[in-house]
Amino acid sequence: MVLATGGAGFVGSHVVVSLLTCGFDVVVLDDFSNSQVEAARRINKLAGGRRAKFVRGDVADLRTLRDLFRTHRFDAVIHFAGLKAVGESVAAPERYYDVNVSGSARLLATMAEHDVSRFVFSSSATVYGLAEKVPIAEDAPLDPTNPYGRTKLIVETLLADVAAARTQTQIVMLRYFNPVGAHPSGMLGEDPIGEPTNLFPLIARSVGLAGQPLRIFGTDYPTPDGTCIRDYIHVQDLADGHIAALSALLSTDLARGVALPINLGNGHGASVRQAVAAFEVASGRTVPTIDAPQRPGDVAASIADPSRAAALLGWRPRRDLDAMCRDMWRFRVLNPQGYRDAAEEHETPRFAPSPP
Ligand code: UDP
Repeated sequence: MVLATGGAGFVGSHVVVSLLTCGFDVVVLDDFSNSQVEAARRINKLAGGRRAKFVRGDVADLRTLRDLFRTHRFDAVIHFAGLKAVGESVAAPERYYDVNVSGSARLLATMAEHDVSRFVFSSSATVYGLAEKVPIAEDAPLDPTNPYGRTKLIVETLLADVAAARTQTQIVMLRYFNPVGAHPSGMLGEDPIGEPTNLFPLIARSVGLAGQPLRIFGTDYPTPDGTCIRDYIHVQDLADGHIAALSALLSTDLARGVALPINLGNGHGASVRQAVAAFEVASGRTVPTIDAPQRPGDVAASIADPSRAAALLGWRPRRDLDAMCRDMWRFRVLNPQGYRDAAEEHETPRFAPSPP
């Protein structure tokens, strides 16, 4: 039995479908603050018979956690739940530290109370900050440039201390590069609540919307076409990476007594202009763009060295940028309003009652 906190969100939902398909029993704890109940319904529809149990609740609430851990015997926890908008973290750091850091600390404390020792953490390449050398290996200097990234780094530090204190623990910290794409069925995808901030949701939004061209932040970077380079990774490849990490924790001594960071990225990058061009091919639409000044805090290039994931997990990314764009476009075409349209057509799924 696996606990997936935040399992209804963009990355979490894809991983939960893969977990169910692989035969794991899954409990999802999600407060639906940046995810939709409709995603939960679709997860269970896609999983081919096995169903996750959804519990609506806050990962920073100790009573909710204790109740969950008393009710279920978890073999492992995958911790996706957290806030992830960089700009918002600058404006409201207290909230980010509360949800991301305190939430993780309470989850770990509850795990310790119940002798649950395997943990997979959704970390981020943001912990590297303005790393000037690419590709970036896990031992690169860590120097995040915003509160969001610092909350990820603080949780990584906390995990190292937990691993040192409890040598039976097995902790893997998956540092995601730039997750993109959607489930190949077109039923799951990225549907942020409120204004999108990441490149691909903004590209998709700009298609067909007169007067809202995509702003290209910086055209004078020291890169071949002058725009920033990022390592985009298909969300299904990320899902495969989580299954590989969990399987290794369950069947080997991987990461016993240490908190092991592992990059999940493609190992090569695409510029903003290349991303736009790939999306235009996949969608058959023109993406209107306008050149804009550099966005403060952006680094010219961020590319993963994914060799540790290959060596320790046997994981390799299999989907290229074209596949990411195709899958993302399919989700957009089938769900022009994201999950909202469909949500109104279906009865709300019944949730396990939240603890009193
Ligand atoms: N970007 C852009 N226009 C936008 C949003 C993003 O040119 O409207 C660029 C951004 O400067 C960066 C890349 O797209 O080079 C990826 O940005 P995103 O925010 O998706 O991820 P980041 O790598 O910054 O975490």
